[in-house]
Amino acid sequence: MATYQEIRQMWSDIGMDLEKHDGFLNIFPGIFKRIIQPQEGRPEKIDYFNKVVTSVHGRRPYELFEHKQKGGKVFGTYCVYVPDEVLLALGGISTGLCGGDQFWVPGGDKYLPANTCPLIKSSMGSRFDRTSPFCQVADMFIGEATCDGKKKAWEILSRDIPMHIMEVPQMKREKDIQRFTEEIWQLVESAQELTGNQLRFDALAEGIVTINNKRRALNRLNRTRQAAPVPISGKDALMVIQVAFYDDPVRFTEMTNILCDELDERINKQEGPFPADTPRIVVTGTPMALPNWKLHHLIETSGAVVVCEESCTGTRYFEELVDENRSDLTGQITALAERYMKTNCACFTPNQARAEDVIRYAKEFKADGVIDYTLQFCGLYSIESHLLREALREEGIPFLHLETDYSEQDSEQLRTRIEAFIEIIKN
Ligand code: SF4
Ligand code: SF4
Repeated sequence: MATYQEIRQMWSDIGMDLEKHDGFLNIFPGIFKRIIQPQEGRPEKIDYFNKVVTSVHGRRPYELFEHKQKGGKVFGTYCVYVPDEVLLALGGISTGLCGGDQFWVPGGDKYLPANTCPLIKSSMGSRFDRTSPFCQVADMFIGEATCDGKKKAWEILSRDIPMHIMEVPQMKREKDIQRFTEEIWQLVESAQELTGNQLRFDALAEGIVTINNKRRALNRLNRTRQAAPVPISGKDALMVIQVAFYDDPVRFTEMTNILCDELDERINKQEGPFPADTPRIVVTGTPMALPNWKLHHLIETSGAVVVCEESCTGTRYFEELVDENRSDLTGQITALAERYMKTNCACFTPNQARAEDVIRYAKEFKADGVIDYTLQFCGLYSIESHLLREALREEGIPFLHLETDYSEQDSEQLRTRIEAFIEIIKN
């Protein structure tokens, strides 16, 4: 394990602004200590994930740095439409990029209009301010043409770092799946050029199994949350899911399965951090990148527990698996396109499958209500909220729509609305 001096040297070597980054180091441990650490009744095996998060800018970026020193390449990604399997099969490492904290928003404000969602601002700020080791260590960013804000942000970012942009179709007809297959082939070409490696059938088969195993572990974790009492808080489950975007996939899978063994024992003993009759909430909406625990913290300190996230930091990331039984490279790439196009992002039209998913989760996880979380200025998700509300009303599922950003300014206002919602669903 690298020493703090070695990590600091690495930050300097990859071009980070050490002084500005010290500002992040001054606030981040406080966020963890205030929101995650004080929870009662946490499982013991969550400790691994605590360590990953508390050393998030040190331990894993150092591994990526070492990979590069051996000639390997690192790909930074922003969206769950990027097929990590391909990058892995080409000897690369893909990693999520920073974009989940208010600390980076002012950096993004310098390049973007005020009415841009905080996720995009934060992502841009973390790169341009040189305060994210993941953004600095990456050789190439993979962007995607999903929402308008991201599409334009990539054009600005591409002046600073090589970018490959994937076009994500906005409908799910047969011809759209075919188009996404072609997009994956183009990604293969870019990644082959960067890594100098040729994509091979057996390497991709291994990559598919590795990433599927990560998804299987996350699905297993999520299923434990159907129990009452829940064996793990929503905040801790979200933290594990967030770690999945950064950690080594094989180690992550192993550690998540070890955690799940403990959660299974807790279910047998009917143990958990909240009483069995605690109101249960499914959260749906925009992604919550690390360390965005704002909504979960408000819900779980207002008398309810989050039992599932229909989100890109939730089921959209891991529910569907890639078919492992294709017999050639062409079949494998098609299988990837088929799997990734099952993701129900609001950038698609129509997108009623997302409402069907939310209703299914509300039933499977025995939820008392659904909270729809939209990041401010995200037109896609806030407009889709209307359709979601109607679909849930037809099923008689209580629904609350909240719009917020990364700051703490509206926290008490949100708390009042969440508490009122919990009161309603309790009665
Ligand atoms: S919400 Fe849509 S655009 Fe955003 S990460 Fe998820 S799939 Fe990608
Ligand atoms: S939250 Fe909405 S506006 Fe922001 S990046 Fe995601 S889809 Fe785009």
